[in-house]
Amino acid sequence: MKLIYTHENTMLLHSAKNILDSNNIESAFKSEHSAPIGPNLGISNIFQELWVVHDEDYLRAREILEREIINPEPKAAWVCPQCNEENAGSFDFCWNCQTAKPA
Ligand SMILES: [Zn+2]
Repeated sequence: MKLIYTHENTMLLHSAKNILDSNNIESAFKSEHSAPIGPNLGISNIFQELWVVHDEDYLRAREILEREIINPEPKAAWVCPQCNEENAGSFDFCWNCQTAKPA
């Protein structure tokens, strides 16, 4: 197991895992509850980690995530057909209702 990506935004982590899944790279979440910073931060206190299960997939996974998530090509924002929320072009799923980005 190797730590590949960590972010406080769980939606971003889930889309990172979806990308790895679609490239046949097995990955798993681990969560760590960091020390509470304040009473109003709620879910942002939970720090999530995405781990690559097989070490030999790590370099390929890193390359894919860098291309897709860390330094994505600029993509046009899109509006969710389900809830009409605007999503950043790098999101494959609506941040609000998890509807897949329309083709
Ligand atoms: Zn939506």
